[in-house]
Amino acid sequence: MQYRVDPRGGRVSALGLGCMRFPGFAVGRPDPRAAREIVSRAVERGVNYLDTAYLYPGNEEVVGRVLSELGVRDRVLVATKLPHASCRSPRDFDRYLDEQLRRLRTDRVDYYLMHNITSLGQWERLVGLGIEGWIERQRASGRIGRIGFSFHGSSVDFPVLLDAYDWDFCQIQYNYTGERYQAGTAGLEAAAARGMAVFVMEPLLGGRLADKMPAPARRVLEEASDGDLTTPAAWGLSWVWNHPEVTMLLSGMSSCEQVDENADIACRALPGSMTPAQLDAIARVVRVFEETNRVPCTGCSYCMPCPHGVNIPGCFAAYNASFAHGRFTGMQQYFTASAIRTGRPRLASNCVGCGACARHCPQRIDIPARLADVRRRLQPGPLDPVLRLLARTPRD
Ligand code: SF4
Ligand code: SF4
Repeated sequence: MQYRVDPRGGRVSALGLGCMRFPGFAVGRPDPRAAREIVSRAVERGVNYLDTAYLYPGNEEVVGRVLSELGVRDRVLVATKLPHASCRSPRDFDRYLDEQLRRLRTDRVDYYLMHNITSLGQWERLVGLGIEGWIERQRASGRIGRIGFSFHGSSVDFPVLLDAYDWDFCQIQYNYTGERYQAGTAGLEAAAARGMAVFVMEPLLGGRLADKMPAPARRVLEEASDGDLTTPAAWGLSWVWNHPEVTMLLSGMSSCEQVDENADIACRALPGSMTPAQLDAIARVVRVFEETNRVPCTGCSYCMPCPHGVNIPGCFAAYNASFAHGRFTGMQQYFTASAIRTGRPRLASNCVGCGACARHCPQRIDIPARLADVRRRLQPGPLDPVLRLLARTPRD
């Protein structure tokens, strides 16, 4: 395993385990047995950083159980996140941390994050509730090690947030399709210049830079296949690790095979190790990707469930597939993913535009508007009334 230095002290494995995507995550019930195998393999391969969050259903409990059963708590750094939007008084900070420590079966969180801070106003509200003094007390007592935030806001807000507090680290979305998206390259460099550790999430954009990559982009990488860069995942992860400012990247590994594949790449992908020809291939992929990736949905499911039954990530995956692989393929995927054969169709036309989903989307997608695009492209006119009727017919 390759290790990188945390500027505030210590070593972090270049590859971190994002626990959100344990098998079963989509239904909110991570499978403890599968999670145990993945964590065990990751630790065996030298991974020493595990990331979870209060808001990932059932996830902290499973992480705590697995670490306890494997007896490896002292070999890993545990990161989790405060659901700050639910905090109404200083007592809530204690209430959440107490519960998280209980769930994680530990007496300390090594890296504690404000979950998805997107604007200065959110942080200022917490400051008004006394969070700075609370953080200092937790650090003094040893219940919290490093303090940071995860970010899905705009490139304008990011440097403002960096300056708002003496953060130890930040966690940003970063991959080769997003150099100017959210914190972007400028944000990565700004955080590193301030002496912060920078952890990267979504390095493969929820798999869309790996196994779900559009065929035209995949062809570019296949033609450029070079040395160890034989899979789209290897290209995507190596590109992130090529940046010396990146301390660690989180991968949501959901099988031991993925752990092995990513750990192998992590051993070789040193900062500055990509050649100009390899970087040029990435630039060509970005151009292809931009032509086919119409909705930047990562499939995280933060927007789900929709009270009207719309399979939001499924609709967007099919929509993007219709540009990458052809309209017919997209429609096939759309009707399959929408579970029309079960009698409970979850089509874009079910959307009533209530907007309940959009505020949860870290990619800031205007979900109702983009679902209207999906409907126009993938639900041909003549089918529409029938589908609407089906959607309204209760079957259970
Ligand atoms: S806006 Fe549409 S997709 Fe979003 S929650 Fe409302 S009905 Fe569901
Ligand atoms: S629409 Fe947004 S919140 Fe929903 S799955 Fe896609 S990226 Fe995640």
